[in-house]
Amino acid sequence: MASETNLMYIDGQWQEADSGKHFEVMNPATGDVVGTAPAGSWSEARRAIVAANRAFPAWAALTAKERANSLLHVGYEMQARKEQLARLITLECGKPLAEAEAEVLYAAEFVTWSAEEAKRVGGETIPASAPNKRILVLRQPIGVVAAITPWNFPAAMITRKVAPALAAGCTVVVKPAEQTPLTAMALFRLFEEAGLPAGVANLVTGDAQEIGKEFLGNPQVRKISFTGSTEVGKLLMRGAADQVKRLALELGGHAPFIVFDDADLDRAVDGLIACKFRNAGQTCICANRVYVQEPIFNTFAAKLAEKVRALKLGNGLEPGVHIGPLIDDAALTKVRAHVDDAVRKGARCLCGGRPRTEGELGKGHFFEPTVLSNVNAEMRIAGEETFGPVAPLFSFRSEEEVLAKANATTYGLAAYFYTRDAARLFRVMERLEYGIVGANDHAPAVPQAPFGGYKESGLGREGGRFGVEEYLEIKNVSIAL
Ligand code: NAP
Repeated sequence: MASETNLMYIDGQWQEADSGKHFEVMNPATGDVVGTAPAGSWSEARRAIVAANRAFPAWAALTAKERANSLLHVGYEMQARKEQLARLITLECGKPLAEAEAEVLYAAEFVTWSAEEAKRVGGETIPASAPNKRILVLRQPIGVVAAITPWNFPAAMITRKVAPALAAGCTVVVKPAEQTPLTAMALFRLFEEAGLPAGVANLVTGDAQEIGKEFLGNPQVRKISFTGSTEVGKLLMRGAADQVKRLALELGGHAPFIVFDDADLDRAVDGLIACKFRNAGQTCICANRVYVQEPIFNTFAAKLAEKVRALKLGNGLEPGVHIGPLIDDAALTKVRAHVDDAVRKGARCLCGGRPRTEGELGKGHFFEPTVLSNVNAEMRIAGEETFGPVAPLFSFRSEEEVLAKANATTYGLAAYFYTRDAARLFRVMERLEYGIVGANDHAPAVPQAPFGGYKESGLGREGGRFGVEEYLEIKNVSIAL
C-alpha cells in the first residue's frame, strides 16, 4: 500500500508539525511503512490547549441534546464506515480484520452511549441545616481534558475518553500512540464532518514526553485521562501533583483466569482462547495466569493445547487468520524472554513457544500461540504483564489457595473464573480484588459498564454513566433566603 501523509487537527485546521518533520507508521505484519504523521511537540500541544480552552465556554453552554446530536453523527458514521476504519486498524496495529471491525463497533457504541447518557446528567437538592437555607448540587463539565491513548485499541481507547468528555461539555486534546496515529486521524475527520466547532476536539501527534509535559504543566488542562502502562501512569501521577490536576488512569493488568473442577470445561477452554489470544494477547484485560484445579488439570491442558494448535497465525488482512503480529520488535523480544525464562525454570511448552523468523511471517513480529504448563510463581510470566499470545497454566488445590494466589499482585484490573456452583460464584466474585470480574464470562467489557482497576491498575472508571461522571465537577451551592 502506498504511504500517505496525514496531519494533526488543531483549532479546526489540519496542520503539519511546526518543525515540518514526520515519523513513519509501520505495518507490524510486514514491516512496510503505511503512512506518516507529524512529529509534533509541546508547542503544538500548547496551541491545541489554548484552542480547547477558548472553545470550552460555548461548547459547555450548549444543551446536552445539541452536543449529543453531533456525537451521534460521529457514532453512526463510524458504524457506516466500519470496513474502512477496521482496515486502517489492522494495517497499523496488526489485529485480524474481524477483530478490528468488532473494535470499530465497540468504539462507536461509546460515542452513541455517552451522547445519550449525558442528557441524563442532573443535579440534586439536599435538605439544609436551617429553615431559611437551600442546598443545590450542580454537576458541571471540568474544562479542557487531555487524553493520552495506547496502540492496542487505536479507535476504542480514544472514543472511550473523548465521547464522554465531549458529551459532558468538556473540550479535548488527544495524543494517540506513535504506532497508531492514522486511526486517530480518521476518527477526527469524522468529528470535523459532524460540524464540531473549532477547538472542541484537537489531535496532536509526536513526542510523548514533550506533549505530556505540556499537558501536565499547562494550568488550562483540568484533567488528564491516560490509558497505557502502569510505569507511565505513575510518571503522570507524580507530574500531576504540582497542580493537583485531575487524573483518570487505565493502566496495566495481570488477570487471573480460574477454572474450578466443577466448571463446564469446554466453555472455559473457549472462553480462555477468546480472552487470551484476542489481539495476540495484547490487551490489558487478557488472562495472564490460568489457574486450573488439580483433578481437571491434565484434561483442561490437553483440550486447550489442541485448540490453540489450530489457531492460524498471519497477516490480519488475510481471511481465516486468528492471530496477528505483535506490535513491534520490543514486544516480540519481551514475549520471547518470558517464555524462555519459564522454560529454563521448568515450564513445559505444550504448543508454540517460538517467534516466526522465516518466510513472509519473518518480515513481521509474529510469535506462535503458546501454552505452557508446570508454571510457578518464580517465573517472570507469573508477575509481569507478557502482552503476547502465551497462556501459562498453574495448578491449584483449594478455593482458598487460589483466591490468595489470584490476589497476590499489585495489579487489579480484570479477573475471570469458571464454576457451576452458585454459592462459589458469589464467594469468589466478592473476594477477587479486581475492578472487572468475568464469572463464566470471558468478555465483560461493554460500553455501558464501568471499566477500570483496583490497586496499581488505575484510578477512575470509563464506560456508561461512570465514564461521564469522570468529566464532571460537583458544586455545592448553599443559598440563604
Ligand atoms: P505506554 O508506553 O504507557 O504508552 C501509552 C501512551 O502513553 C502512548 O500514547 C505513549 O506515547 C504515551 N506516553 C509514553 N510515555 C509518555 C510520557 N512520558 N508522558 C506522556 N505520555 C507518554 O503503553 P503502551 O505500551 O502503548 O500500551 C500498553 C499498556 O497499556 C499495557 O500496560 C496495557 O495493559 C495498558 N492498557 C490499559 C488499558 C486499560 O484500560 N486499563 C487499556 C489498554 C492498554 P508514544 O506511543 O508516543 O510513546
